[in-house]
Amino acid sequence: MAGGRGGDLGPSLAGYTGFSIEFCTAVAVPPPCVTAKYKAEAKATHLNWPVESQFKLQQLCLSMWEDDILIEEAWAGALIAVYLAKRGFKVDVFEARKDPRKEVAQRGRSVNLALSVRGIESLRAVGAEGLVTALGIPMHARMIHSHSGNTTPIPYGKKGQHLLSVERQKLNNDLLTAKLQELSGYKSYLYNNMKHLRFDFSQEYIPHGYKELCLAPTKNGEFAMAVNYLHIWPRQTFMMIALPNQDKSFTCTLFLPFDQFDKLKTKEDVLTFFKAEFPDFLNLMGEEKLLEEFFRNPTGPMVSIKCKPYHVSDKLVIIGDAAHAMVPFYGQGTNCAFEDCLVLNGILEKHNNDFGSALQEYSRTRNKDVESMCDLAMYNYIEMRSLVTSPVFLMKKKLFNFLHWLMPKTFIPLYTMVSFSQIPYKTVIDRSEWQEKYGEVIL
Ligand SMILES: Cc1cc2nc3c(=O)[nH]c(=O)nc-3n(C[C@H](O)[C@H](O)[C@H](O)COP(=O)(O)OP(=O)(O)OC[C@H]3O[C@@H](n4cnc5c(N)ncnc54)[C@H](O)[C@@H]3O)c2cc1C
Repeated sequence: MAGGRGGDLGPSLAGYTGFSIEFCTAVAVPPPCVTAKYKAEAKATHLNWPVESQFKLQQLCLSMWEDDILIEEAWAGALIAVYLAKRGFKVDVFEARKDPRKEVAQRGRSVNLALSVRGIESLRAVGAEGLVTALGIPMHARMIHSHSGNTTPIPYGKKGQHLLSVERQKLNNDLLTAKLQELSGYKSYLYNNMKHLRFDFSQEYIPHGYKELCLAPTKNGEFAMAVNYLHIWPRQTFMMIALPNQDKSFTCTLFLPFDQFDKLKTKEDVLTFFKAEFPDFLNLMGEEKLLEEFFRNPTGPMVSIKCKPYHVSDKLVIIGDAAHAMVPFYGQGTNCAFEDCLVLNGILEKHNNDFGSALQEYSRTRNKDVESMCDLAMYNYIEMRSLVTSPVFLMKKKLFNFLHWLMPKTFIPLYTMVSFSQIPYKTVIDRSEWQEKYGEVIL
């Protein structure tokens, strides 16, 4: 049997958890006492499936063949591989990308991430939370930048609660060499089955695209802005954010409608725009560097995808972005993908590793939660770029924090439920609705 290798997190996780996961040929070694339930006849892979309707099924799938588990991966794929290896399964991991260690770090493509409780707890369950906590920079609050350059912090939650800014590229350092081969029969298998699935699918591109810019450290080698914050320049219909990196740079992301990006054609267009909207940032970045990065870095689209079911009998399940891509405004895509692994592992435990019944339950129960998260991410698209500047919103936030202090178990602000708890996302929406009504009455 042949195999591939893991993506960003795979080998690091493998090393961290003490599992022997080889990402070149056949992979996770189960404890000798466990007979691998699944065994693959398939050869290894480099699948270039057509991106039909942009559906990202090809991006990540966990497929159970006769007696084996095959995983396409990056984040979620690597983590579920570790979970399954811990359960004693033999796991093959396939990754279509080149070995990232051999690629020059591409600024503008490798966004960093805000990890919160769900992601960290899902890593903790396999003993790997140190991997990100060691690499991450705590962000305790949003730092709002006005047009004039004034800054106002808005804490995320209670004292001590914070998000972790983790640079994806850092996690690539441990990666092993990729060895991609062909997986015969795989493609036709999936598509044939999808026809009989009564498979629901919907997607929505938002009008905005995103472009990354790197704000370098100062000449003295220090952070150019206050470090423990997620910096936001909210401008109602668009915004820019910045997250700190361990090398003392910031990864900044400009979210702007595509039709406005299209208008920024010349150097003058870009400078005029930044002078009007982000003058403090332009001062820090410098005109030359800004123009270089702006015209070099790509503009990416953002899509929200919902689908169901997530499984095909006991043979296949999709997790992570493949099942539920969401717009990035709540910083929950990876957190949710990692939580998929935790939830699936719990359900496998409950069903004594019977994939038939476990995948059915996973598909049914997880769907409402992750679709709720897709909706919440769309909501935060508005909160981040616009509501954070509204006095009514800020007053409400203070009131909700006070009510949370008064009744910590009964009244939990929406952001706290999403980012600092493991309350199922659907319950988060339900609770938030009655809290909003209650809050409005008091206001
Ligand atoms: C601008 C932006 C900011 C974001 N910020 C955050 C944040 O702050 N916090 C957060 O939690 N999330 C964030 N996200 C979301 C996060 O990036 C994704 O949710 C996360 O990467 C999903 O992980 P995944 O493993 O499901 O999929 P992916 O990371 O997409 O991994 C899929 C892997 O499968 C591989 N692959 C694809 N096709 C094949 C094939 N045919 N054969 C073999 N391998 C294949 C790919 O090469 C890739 O490595 C952000 C996203 C964007 C766009």
